[in-house]
Amino acid sequence: MSSTRERKLSSKVLIQFTGLKFLTPMLTIHCAACKKKLWRYEKFGPGEILRCHKDRIIRMYNSKMHEHKIQCPCGKDIGIDKGSYYKMIAKAFTYKGTKRNERR
Ligand SMILES: [Zn+2]
Repeated sequence: MSSTRERKLSSKVLIQFTGLKFLTPMLTIHCAACKKKLWRYEKFGPGEILRCHKDRIIRMYNSKMHEHKIQCPCGKDIGIDKGSYYKMIAKAFTYKGTKRNERR
């Protein structure tokens, strides 16, 4: 009987874990001009990306700093360095990733 209980418990943990993953989607930020992959970002909360917090950037692929701006290697300005985050320039980037309600 104890093995059945364990199995039930582990499936419950799995559901909770999956739920957590849906709440913190991972997004890949791309340059809108050349489509180059820029960085991978852990988004927190719903809505548009207006800022990218540096401590939530999981992985940097391509980017360069020019004065106080973060740019794509093609030279397009992507965001402005504000210390702990980048203020993102709308239309300079696109993103792809797991969102809630998207199950593909
Ligand atoms: Zn680019």
